[in-house]
Amino acid sequence: MLIDSFNRQVNYLRISVTERCNFRCQYCMPEKPFSWVPKENILRFEELFAFVKVCIDEGINKIRITGGEPLLRENLDTFIQMIYSYKPTIDLAMTTNGYLLKANAQKLKDSGLKRINVSIDTLQPDVARQIAQKEVLTQVLEGVNEARRVGLKVKINMVPMKGLNEREILDVLEYCKARDMSVRFIEYMENIHAKVNIKGMKSDELLAIIAVKYHFEDVGFDTHSPSHYYRLDDGYIFGIIEPYNDAFCSTCNRIRLTAEGLLIPCLYFDEAMSIKEAVQQGNIAEAALILKEVVRTKPEKNRWGDTEGEISKRAFYETGG
Ligand code: SAM
Ligand code: SF4
Repeated sequence: MLIDSFNRQVNYLRISVTERCNFRCQYCMPEKPFSWVPKENILRFEELFAFVKVCIDEGINKIRITGGEPLLRENLDTFIQMIYSYKPTIDLAMTTNGYLLKANAQKLKDSGLKRINVSIDTLQPDVARQIAQKEVLTQVLEGVNEARRVGLKVKINMVPMKGLNEREILDVLEYCKARDMSVRFIEYMENIHAKVNIKGMKSDELLAIIAVKYHFEDVGFDTHSPSHYYRLDDGYIFGIIEPYNDAFCSTCNRIRLTAEGLLIPCLYFDEAMSIKEAVQQGNIAEAALILKEVVRTKPEKNRWGDTEGEISKRAFYETGG
């Protein structure tokens, strides 16, 4: 079992399989990064899998594939199948922008993927174009339909931003509610890669908008989920991810692996250790030691709520959010 210095059990690994993306979301990577990581620096699936096995053997029981856009990586279903075959009971999920989902949903389902989170920040084609800097909405919505049709459990993520999609909180909530899909509103997290004038919306602003139409009660947190949950009178539950709130960190159970093999203890800070050399040399004992060291050094909390804090240098497209 992996326990950090603040007595939190770490059982969740997020793997960013590529930093590349077919969108340029303004809150994530407004321009193409200065240079993409060259393909030869990216760990092969066999190398990532060697590390995944170490993690599972040490107690990781939840894995999320993310990116960049994970569906840009060729043969992703083979990688998912490798993990699933090693431990079929693993909670295996993916976060995607949904653009390539229609063509891939069945393959993903067949490979052992159980759940999928799709980022939908708006239901208006022109707003989607403005946020992603590309014509995307029709294809994303078709991807969601197909994922549901093949039996994947779908959740929606929305990042509410002032002046962009702030009028669509209820629309997105109702789109999800009508389809019995969960929605999670993610408070925008400032970082140096996002467009400078982005202004996120905080939990209390979102709740005030929802309260105009619905009565709801605060049902608190699930163990190990960063979401703060609320229940409408008809039983529908929605979540808000509040990185500015200390509760976000006090139950944190996750570490992150980048496509280049950097193992990251906290989304906010720059610190990381590389497992690349260890897995490329087949040194599994060393990979296990690095895993334990990264867990040991997990910081107590992020600095998003800290007005003295610098803006995070972490790129969401690199860490996978
Ligand atoms: N490309 C995929 C997607 O967009 O779903 C997966 C990677 S993306 C980095 C993972 C999640 O991080 C998405 O739900 C996205 O909305 C969220 N995200 C990216 N930048 C963010 C930011 N600055 N603040 C809050 N959430 C962010
Ligand atoms: Fe790409 Fe996802 Fe970042 Fe948007 S949020 S630019 S889809 S990685």
